[in-house]
Amino acid sequence: MSGPNDPGAQETLPTAVVVQPGQARHQTGGHPESHLRLEAVIDHLEGLPSWSLRTVIEAEPVGTDSVEACHPESHLETVRRAAESGGGWLDGDTPVSPLSFETALEACGGAVGAVDSVLEPATVNRGAFALIRPPGHHATIDRAMGFCLFNNAAVAARHAQREHGIERVAIIDWDVHHGNGTQDIFYGDPNVLFISLHQWPLYPGTGWLDETGREDGAGSTVNIPIPPGAGDRNWVEAFERVVEPTVRAFEPGLVIVSAGQDGHYADGLSNQALTEVGYLTMAHRVGSVARDLGAGLVAVHEGGYNPDTLPTLDRLILEGFDAGLTGEVAPGSAGLDPSAGLDAAEWEGRLEEVTTAQRPFRNL
Ligand SMILES: [Zn+2]
Repeated sequence: MSGPNDPGAQETLPTAVVVQPGQARHQTGGHPESHLRLEAVIDHLEGLPSWSLRTVIEAEPVGTDSVEACHPESHLETVRRAAESGGGWLDGDTPVSPLSFETALEACGGAVGAVDSVLEPATVNRGAFALIRPPGHHATIDRAMGFCLFNNAAVAARHAQREHGIERVAIIDWDVHHGNGTQDIFYGDPNVLFISLHQWPLYPGTGWLDETGREDGAGSTVNIPIPPGAGDRNWVEAFERVVEPTVRAFEPGLVIVSAGQDGHYADGLSNQALTEVGYLTMAHRVGSVARDLGAGLVAVHEGGYNPDTLPTLDRLILEGFDAGLTGEVAPGSAGLDPSAGLDAAEWEGRLEEVTTAQRPFRNL
Protein backbone atom coordinates (compact mmCIF):
# COMPACT_ATOMS: atom_id res chain seq x y z
CA MET A 1 0.00 0.00 0.00
CA SER A 2 1.35 3.44 -0.86
CA GLY A 3 -0.01 6.47 0.88
CA PRO A 4 -0.28 10.05 -0.29
CA ASN A 5 3.00 11.71 -1.24
CA ASP A 6 2.71 14.74 0.99
CA PRO A 7 0.25 14.14 3.79
CA GLY A 8 1.37 17.26 5.61
CA ALA A 9 0.16 19.59 2.90
CA GLN A 10 -3.32 18.34 2.13
CA GLU A 11 -5.79 15.97 3.65
CA THR A 12 -5.93 12.42 2.34
CA LEU A 13 -9.00 11.80 0.22
CA PRO A 14 -11.31 9.27 1.88
CA THR A 15 -11.75 6.95 -1.12
CA ALA A 16 -8.85 4.66 -1.98
CA VAL A 17 -8.30 3.17 -5.43
CA VAL A 18 -7.42 -0.47 -5.97
CA VAL A 19 -5.53 -1.12 -9.18
CA GLN A 20 -4.99 -4.55 -10.69
CA PRO A 21 -1.49 -4.93 -12.15
CA GLY A 22 -2.25 -8.11 -14.10
CA GLN A 23 -5.66 -7.21 -15.49
CA ALA A 24 -4.49 -7.35 -19.13
CA ARG A 25 -3.65 -11.05 -18.74
CA HIS A 26 -7.37 -11.80 -19.14
CA GLN A 27 -7.39 -11.47 -22.92
CA THR A 28 -10.66 -11.14 -24.75
CA GLY A 29 -9.66 -10.15 -28.28
CA GLY A 30 -12.15 -7.75 -29.84
CA HIS A 31 -14.70 -8.31 -27.07
CA PRO A 32 -16.23 -5.16 -25.49
CA GLU A 33 -14.94 -6.27 -22.05
CA SER A 34 -11.34 -5.44 -22.93
CA HIS A 35 -8.27 -4.59 -20.87
CA LEU A 36 -8.23 -1.20 -22.64
CA ARG A 37 -11.19 -0.06 -20.52
CA LEU A 38 -9.39 0.07 -17.19
CA GLU A 39 -6.13 1.23 -18.77
CA ALA A 40 -7.99 4.31 -20.02
CA VAL A 41 -9.44 4.88 -16.56
CA ILE A 42 -6.06 4.61 -14.81
CA ASP A 43 -4.40 6.91 -17.37
CA HIS A 44 -7.03 9.53 -16.65
CA LEU A 45 -6.89 9.23 -12.86
CA GLU A 46 -3.08 9.32 -12.76
CA GLY A 47 -3.10 12.67 -14.55
CA LEU A 48 -5.28 14.37 -11.94
CA PRO A 49 -3.93 16.48 -9.05
CA SER A 50 -6.06 14.38 -6.70
CA TRP A 51 -4.11 11.21 -7.55
CA SER A 52 -1.32 12.05 -5.10
CA LEU A 53 -3.92 12.42 -2.33
CA ARG A 54 -5.36 8.94 -2.74
CA THR A 55 -4.26 5.72 -1.18
CA VAL A 56 -3.46 3.38 -4.06
CA ILE A 57 -3.56 -0.35 -3.39
CA GLU A 58 -2.32 -3.05 -5.72
CA ALA A 59 -4.57 -6.09 -5.95
CA GLU A 60 -3.07 -9.41 -4.97
CA PRO A 61 -4.69 -12.73 -5.86
CA VAL A 62 -6.82 -14.43 -3.24
CA GLY A 63 -6.48 -18.11 -2.42
CA THR A 64 -9.15 -20.40 -3.77
CA ASP A 65 -10.70 -20.71 -0.30
CA SER A 66 -11.94 -17.10 -0.53
CA VAL A 67 -13.69 -17.84 -3.83
CA GLU A 68 -15.06 -21.12 -2.50
CA ALA A 69 -17.03 -19.13 0.08
CA CYS A 70 -19.31 -18.30 -2.88
CA HIS A 71 -18.69 -20.92 -5.59
CA PRO A 72 -18.19 -24.70 -5.37
CA GLU A 73 -14.77 -26.12 -6.13
CA SER A 74 -16.19 -27.66 -9.31
CA HIS A 75 -16.85 -24.18 -10.71
CA LEU A 76 -13.29 -23.07 -10.02
CA GLU A 77 -12.05 -26.22 -11.74
CA THR A 78 -14.21 -25.51 -14.80
CA VAL A 79 -12.59 -22.09 -15.17
CA ARG A 80 -9.10 -23.40 -14.39
CA ARG A 81 -9.32 -26.25 -16.90
CA ALA A 82 -10.69 -23.98 -19.65
CA ALA A 83 -7.80 -21.58 -19.14
CA GLU A 84 -5.10 -24.25 -18.86
CA SER A 85 -6.29 -25.93 -22.03
CA GLY A 86 -5.54 -22.73 -23.93
CA GLY A 87 -8.76 -20.80 -23.45
CA GLY A 88 -12.08 -20.71 -25.22
CA TRP A 89 -15.64 -19.72 -24.40
CA LEU A 90 -17.54 -20.69 -21.24
CA ASP A 91 -20.76 -19.47 -22.79
CA GLY A 92 -21.69 -17.49 -25.87
CA ASP A 93 -20.19 -14.25 -24.55
CA THR A 94 -17.72 -15.26 -21.82
CA PRO A 95 -14.18 -15.77 -23.12
CA VAL A 96 -11.32 -17.38 -21.22
CA SER A 97 -7.64 -17.00 -22.10
CA PRO A 98 -4.66 -19.01 -20.75
CA LEU A 99 -4.12 -16.73 -17.71
CA SER A 100 -7.78 -15.90 -16.99
CA PHE A 101 -7.97 -18.10 -13.89
CA GLU A 102 -5.10 -16.25 -12.19
CA THR A 103 -6.48 -12.91 -13.35
CA ALA A 104 -9.91 -13.72 -11.92
CA LEU A 105 -8.31 -14.62 -8.57
CA GLU A 106 -6.52 -11.27 -8.71
CA ALA A 107 -9.82 -9.46 -9.42
CA CYS A 108 -11.33 -11.11 -6.34
CA GLY A 109 -8.19 -10.05 -4.49
CA GLY A 110 -8.80 -6.46 -5.50
CA ALA A 111 -12.30 -6.61 -4.06
CA VAL A 112 -10.99 -8.22 -0.87
CA GLY A 113 -8.18 -5.66 -0.63
CA ALA A 114 -10.75 -2.88 -0.90
CA VAL A 115 -12.69 -4.42 1.99
CA ASP A 116 -9.54 -4.71 4.11
CA SER A 117 -8.60 -1.11 3.39
CA VAL A 118 -11.88 0.29 4.72
CA LEU A 119 -12.42 -2.10 7.64
CA GLU A 120 -8.97 -2.02 9.23
CA PRO A 121 -9.41 -0.24 12.57
CA ALA A 122 -6.75 2.42 11.97
CA THR A 123 -7.57 3.16 8.33
CA VAL A 124 -7.95 6.64 6.86
CA ASN A 125 -9.92 5.17 3.96
CA ARG A 126 -13.64 5.06 4.51
CA GLY A 127 -14.24 4.09 0.89
CA ALA A 128 -12.40 2.14 -1.80
CA PHE A 129 -13.07 1.64 -5.50
CA ALA A 130 -11.61 -1.57 -6.93
CA LEU A 131 -10.82 -1.14 -10.63
CA ILE A 132 -10.88 -4.82 -11.47
CA ARG A 133 -11.76 -7.24 -14.25
CA PRO A 134 -13.10 -9.65 -15.33
CA PRO A 135 -16.34 -8.31 -13.83
CA GLY A 136 -18.36 -10.54 -11.52
CA HIS A 137 -22.04 -9.84 -11.00
CA HIS A 138 -23.37 -12.34 -13.59
CA ALA A 139 -21.33 -15.23 -12.14
CA THR A 140 -23.87 -17.46 -10.39
CA ILE A 141 -23.09 -20.04 -7.73
CA ASP A 142 -21.90 -22.57 -10.30
CA ARG A 143 -21.78 -20.83 -13.67
CA ALA A 144 -19.62 -18.29 -15.50
CA MET A 145 -21.67 -16.09 -17.80
CA GLY A 146 -22.05 -12.56 -19.14
CA PHE A 147 -18.28 -11.80 -19.23
CA CYS A 148 -18.01 -12.87 -15.54
CA LEU A 149 -15.99 -15.77 -14.07
CA PHE A 150 -16.09 -15.33 -10.26
CA ASN A 151 -18.42 -13.00 -8.38
CA ASN A 152 -16.08 -10.32 -7.01
CA ALA A 153 -18.76 -8.47 -5.01
CA ALA A 154 -19.97 -11.69 -3.37
CA VAL A 155 -16.43 -12.75 -2.47
CA ALA A 156 -15.90 -9.32 -0.91
CA ALA A 157 -19.09 -9.60 1.13
CA ARG A 158 -18.23 -13.04 2.48
CA HIS A 159 -14.69 -11.89 3.28
CA ALA A 160 -16.05 -8.97 5.31
CA GLN A 161 -18.27 -11.33 7.27
CA ARG A 162 -15.65 -14.03 7.87
CA GLU A 163 -12.52 -11.94 8.42
CA HIS A 164 -13.86 -8.69 9.85
CA GLY A 165 -16.88 -9.84 11.83
CA ILE A 166 -19.31 -7.76 9.79
CA GLU A 167 -22.78 -9.22 10.26
CA ARG A 168 -24.84 -7.47 7.61
CA VAL A 169 -23.66 -6.37 4.14
CA ALA A 170 -25.71 -4.38 1.62
CA ILE A 171 -24.88 -4.70 -2.08
CA ILE A 172 -26.20 -2.00 -4.42
CA ASP A 173 -25.84 -3.02 -8.07
CA TRP A 174 -26.28 -0.09 -10.50
CA ASP A 175 -24.87 -1.89 -13.53
CA VAL A 176 -27.48 -1.61 -16.28
CA HIS A 177 -27.83 -5.40 -16.41
CA HIS A 178 -29.45 -7.40 -13.63
CA GLY A 179 -26.94 -8.81 -11.13
CA ASN A 180 -28.34 -12.31 -11.46
CA GLY A 181 -25.21 -14.00 -10.13
CA THR A 182 -25.10 -11.97 -6.92
CA GLN A 183 -28.82 -12.52 -6.45
CA ASP A 184 -28.33 -16.27 -6.90
CA ILE A 185 -25.58 -16.45 -4.28
CA PHE A 186 -27.50 -14.53 -1.59
CA TYR A 187 -31.13 -15.32 -2.45
CA GLY A 188 -31.75 -17.23 0.79
CA ASP A 189 -29.44 -15.15 3.01
CA PRO A 190 -31.06 -12.63 5.38
CA ASN A 191 -27.70 -11.01 6.22
CA VAL A 192 -26.84 -9.82 2.70
CA LEU A 193 -29.24 -7.27 1.24
CA PHE A 194 -29.05 -7.22 -2.55
CA ILE A 195 -30.56 -4.30 -4.47
CA SER A 196 -30.30 -4.24 -8.27
CA LEU A 197 -31.30 -1.36 -10.53
CA HIS A 198 -31.28 -2.45 -14.15
CA GLN A 199 -32.90 -1.94 -17.51
CA TRP A 200 -35.85 -4.20 -18.19
CA PRO A 201 -36.07 -5.97 -20.53
CA LEU A 202 -32.37 -6.67 -21.10
CA TYR A 203 -29.76 -9.42 -20.65
CA PRO A 204 -29.84 -11.76 -18.75
CA GLY A 205 -33.64 -11.63 -18.49
CA THR A 206 -33.96 -12.03 -14.71
CA GLY A 207 -34.62 -9.37 -12.09
CA TRP A 208 -38.34 -8.71 -12.27
CA LEU A 209 -39.65 -6.93 -9.18
CA ASP A 210 -41.36 -10.03 -7.78
CA GLU A 211 -37.96 -11.71 -7.21
CA THR A 212 -37.59 -10.78 -3.53
CA GLY A 213 -35.66 -13.65 -1.92
CA ARG A 214 -36.59 -17.06 -0.55
CA GLU A 215 -36.97 -18.77 2.83
CA ASP A 216 -34.82 -17.00 5.45
CA GLY A 217 -33.79 -14.52 2.76
CA ALA A 218 -37.34 -13.45 1.92
CA GLY A 219 -37.24 -9.68 1.50
CA SER A 220 -33.45 -9.47 1.27
CA THR A 221 -33.54 -9.05 -2.52
CA VAL A 222 -34.87 -5.85 -4.07
CA ASN A 223 -35.20 -5.60 -7.84
CA ILE A 224 -35.88 -2.30 -9.57
CA PRO A 225 -36.48 -2.99 -13.27
CA ILE A 226 -36.21 0.27 -15.20
CA PRO A 227 -37.82 0.81 -18.63
CA PRO A 228 -35.66 1.72 -21.64
CA GLY A 229 -35.15 5.45 -22.06
CA ALA A 230 -34.88 6.27 -18.34
CA GLY A 231 -32.47 8.98 -17.26
CA ASP A 232 -30.80 10.61 -14.29
CA ARG A 233 -33.98 11.82 -12.60
CA ASN A 234 -35.53 8.35 -12.73
CA TRP A 235 -32.51 6.53 -11.33
CA VAL A 236 -31.99 9.12 -8.59
CA GLU A 237 -35.64 8.93 -7.65
CA ALA A 238 -35.30 5.15 -7.33
CA PHE A 239 -32.45 5.82 -4.90
CA GLU A 240 -34.56 8.27 -2.87
CA ARG A 241 -37.71 6.19 -2.75
CA VAL A 242 -36.36 2.62 -2.56
CA VAL A 243 -32.58 2.13 -2.32
CA GLU A 244 -31.71 4.57 0.45
CA PRO A 245 -34.56 3.88 2.91
CA THR A 246 -34.02 0.14 2.44
CA VAL A 247 -30.28 0.29 3.12
CA ARG A 248 -30.69 2.63 6.08
CA ALA A 249 -33.26 0.36 7.73
CA PHE A 250 -31.00 -2.70 7.16
CA GLU A 251 -28.11 -1.02 9.04
CA PRO A 252 -25.24 -2.81 7.27
CA GLY A 253 -21.66 -2.62 8.50
CA LEU A 254 -20.46 -2.54 4.89
CA VAL A 255 -22.00 -1.20 1.70
CA ILE A 256 -20.73 -2.69 -1.56
CA VAL A 257 -21.52 -1.09 -4.91
CA SER A 258 -21.44 -3.22 -8.04
CA ALA A 259 -20.42 -0.25 -10.15
CA GLY A 260 -21.17 -0.82 -13.81
CA GLN A 261 -21.38 2.34 -15.87
CA ASP A 262 -23.04 0.77 -18.90
CA GLY A 263 -26.30 2.68 -18.40
CA HIS A 264 -24.56 5.82 -19.70
CA TYR A 265 -26.19 7.23 -22.83
CA ALA A 266 -23.00 6.72 -24.86
CA ASP A 267 -22.58 3.08 -23.86
CA GLY A 268 -23.59 0.67 -26.59
CA LEU A 269 -24.98 -2.17 -24.48
CA SER A 270 -28.22 -0.57 -23.24
CA ASN A 271 -30.86 2.04 -23.95
CA GLN A 272 -30.61 4.25 -20.88
CA ALA A 273 -30.05 8.01 -20.87
CA LEU A 274 -27.90 8.31 -17.74
CA THR A 275 -25.34 11.12 -17.84
CA GLU A 276 -22.28 12.06 -15.80
CA VAL A 277 -24.62 13.87 -13.39
CA GLY A 278 -26.52 10.68 -12.69
CA TYR A 279 -23.45 8.65 -11.73
CA LEU A 280 -22.00 11.46 -9.63
CA THR A 281 -25.31 11.85 -7.80
CA MET A 282 -25.75 8.12 -7.14
CA ALA A 283 -22.18 7.87 -5.83
CA HIS A 284 -22.68 10.89 -3.60
CA ARG A 285 -25.87 9.44 -2.19
CA VAL A 286 -24.27 6.09 -1.44
CA GLY A 287 -21.35 7.86 0.24
CA SER A 288 -23.78 9.86 2.38
CA VAL A 289 -25.65 6.73 3.44
CA ALA A 290 -22.40 4.96 4.38
CA ARG A 291 -21.32 8.01 6.35
CA ASP A 292 -24.60 8.26 8.23
CA LEU A 293 -24.49 4.55 9.08
CA GLY A 294 -20.81 4.53 9.99
CA ALA A 295 -20.42 1.74 7.42
CA GLY A 296 -17.49 1.01 5.13
CA LEU A 297 -18.00 1.66 1.41
CA VAL A 298 -16.49 -0.55 -1.28
CA ALA A 299 -17.17 -0.35 -5.00
CA VAL A 300 -16.16 -3.08 -7.43
CA HIS A 301 -16.05 -2.37 -11.14
CA GLU A 302 -18.58 -4.22 -13.27
CA GLY A 303 -19.60 -3.09 -16.79
CA GLY A 304 -19.01 0.10 -18.74
CA TYR A 305 -17.78 -0.47 -22.27
CA ASN A 306 -17.11 2.89 -23.87
CA PRO A 307 -13.42 3.65 -23.24
CA ASP A 308 -13.98 7.31 -24.23
CA THR A 309 -16.53 8.02 -21.50
CA LEU A 310 -15.66 5.47 -18.79
CA PRO A 311 -12.64 7.40 -17.37
CA THR A 312 -14.74 10.49 -16.58
CA LEU A 313 -17.54 8.39 -15.11
CA ASP A 314 -15.19 6.50 -12.81
CA ARG A 315 -13.53 9.76 -11.71
CA LEU A 316 -16.92 11.27 -10.89
CA ILE A 317 -17.84 8.19 -8.88
CA LEU A 318 -14.68 8.62 -6.81
CA GLU A 319 -15.47 12.31 -6.30
CA GLY A 320 -19.06 11.52 -5.40
CA PHE A 321 -17.94 8.97 -2.81
CA ASP A 322 -15.41 11.47 -1.39
CA ALA A 323 -18.03 14.16 -0.98
CA GLY A 324 -20.68 11.86 0.45
CA LEU A 325 -18.28 10.29 2.93
CA THR A 326 -17.18 13.70 4.21
CA GLY A 327 -20.65 15.27 4.30
CA GLU A 328 -20.01 17.73 1.47
CA VAL A 329 -22.37 18.57 -1.34
CA ALA A 330 -21.79 16.74 -4.61
CA PRO A 331 -19.18 18.62 -6.64
CA GLY A 332 -19.14 19.37 -10.30
CA SER A 333 -22.79 19.08 -11.25
CA ALA A 334 -23.63 22.79 -11.18
CA GLY A 335 -24.81 23.95 -14.58
CA LEU A 336 -25.20 20.45 -15.94
CA ASP A 337 -28.70 19.44 -16.91
CA PRO A 338 -29.65 16.03 -15.60
CA SER A 339 -31.42 13.82 -18.07
CA ALA A 340 -35.16 13.81 -17.48
CA GLY A 341 -35.90 10.39 -18.88
CA LEU A 342 -39.27 8.69 -18.84
CA ASP A 343 -42.82 9.90 -19.04
CA ALA A 344 -43.76 10.81 -15.45
CA ALA A 345 -46.88 8.65 -15.25
CA GLU A 346 -45.12 5.59 -16.66
CA TRP A 347 -42.30 5.96 -14.16
CA GLU A 348 -44.58 6.57 -11.20
CA GLY A 349 -46.46 3.41 -12.11
CA ARG A 350 -43.25 1.38 -12.11
CA LEU A 351 -42.14 2.76 -8.74
CA GLU A 352 -45.54 1.88 -7.32
CA GLU A 353 -45.14 -1.68 -8.58
CA VAL A 354 -41.70 -1.96 -6.94
CA THR A 355 -42.83 -0.59 -3.59
CA THR A 356 -45.93 -2.81 -3.64
CA ALA A 357 -43.73 -5.89 -4.18
CA GLN A 358 -41.58 -4.83 -1.23
CA ARG A 359 -44.46 -3.90 1.09
CA PRO A 360 -44.57 -7.28 2.86
CA PHE A 361 -41.00 -6.65 4.01
CA ARG A 362 -40.56 -2.92 4.62
CA ASN A 363 -42.18 0.48 4.77
CA LEU A 364 -41.53 2.35 1.52
ZN1 LIG B 1 -23.65 -4.57 -17.42
